[in-house]
Amino acid sequence: MAEIYRREGPRASRSRARLFHMLETLGTDTFRSKIAERVGTALPTAGELRIEKAPPASEIPLKNGRFAHRYTTAFGELSFRQLTEILALCKEYDIGELRIGCDQNLYIPDLPEKVAFTQSTERYGGILACAGSKYCVYSLMDTKKESETLALEKCKRLEITVGFSGCLKGCARHAFSDIGLVGIRTKLFAEEVERGVRLYLGAEYTHGKRAGRLILYSVPMRHLNAMIDLIADLFTTSGYEDFEDFSKEVLNRYSEPALAFWLLLNFHRRHHLNRNDFVIPEPAEHEDEKAYFIHLLENSGSEEDKDIAEYLRCQEAFPFREAIIFLERACFAVSADR
Ligand code: SF4
Repeated sequence: MAEIYRREGPRASRSRARLFHMLETLGTDTFRSKIAERVGTALPTAGELRIEKAPPASEIPLKNGRFAHRYTTAFGELSFRQLTEILALCKEYDIGELRIGCDQNLYIPDLPEKVAFTQSTERYGGILACAGSKYCVYSLMDTKKESETLALEKCKRLEITVGFSGCLKGCARHAFSDIGLVGIRTKLFAEEVERGVRLYLGAEYTHGKRAGRLILYSVPMRHLNAMIDLIADLFTTSGYEDFEDFSKEVLNRYSEPALAFWLLLNFHRRHHLNRNDFVIPEPAEHEDEKAYFIHLLENSGSEEDKDIAEYLRCQEAFPFREAIIFLERACFAVSADR
């Protein structure tokens, strides 16, 4: 694969120097046939896809009656003490195999019994953080450190996954998590440049059906925990049990601007109007999304909602633009915090 990439992959621009971009041009079938040609034999088929979504757990019962243990790492980092603990256990049970998961944890397979580890990292296992500025020049922040400060108790309880990438290359698979974050610097809402994130929602990732979409271009870090908390509460109010189902049945029936408006509207209600009567859009497609939201707001019986509906009535080139600008400033501007 590396040889084919070296011969045919894009190398002129650093940002396009990715296997992904070569596959975009070649297509997977051509890529496979080139590998088969290079190897000199036909490739086996992918087989039957048997992926199942499972809640993150430390002890995983295996089909042979034994157990696998998921050893939680600090977003892919292992200390010497942790490695010593793992190796001592492998020696004790005569295990010659360790697996590295794409969830940034280690898996110790084939244990005859459940095993307790004392050194594994205490953290919610449903969040990924990319290498971050400590290891990668492209990152605008230390994503591992920032991830440690996120309030993820609700996400843990609701099994909402989070991916936090330091740039758009997306090594933390932000487009394939329930809540996707990409670190940015922004001067939109404060006089000084501050750190923030782009926010993605709507991924249907378990079977690789759909990537998450960019919904909010800039959420200052000062408001990120409140935003994550709100998303968890909106999901709970929706009545869905799995966030991917919520994405598929509700979120993905609406455009990105409609979802940006919806999130900001609820954020504004909670943090500036002290209201917790959330708006949850119905799981249906609307030919005129703006008219749908105007109808919801005008029939809520609230004067504040009617005022916001006025912003939706503005004639603008981009749908929801005036309302989004108003709500973003009301929610995130430093002056609004005072
Ligand atoms: S997502 Fe970007 S910043 Fe993070 S490790 Fe990958 S390339 Fe580096």
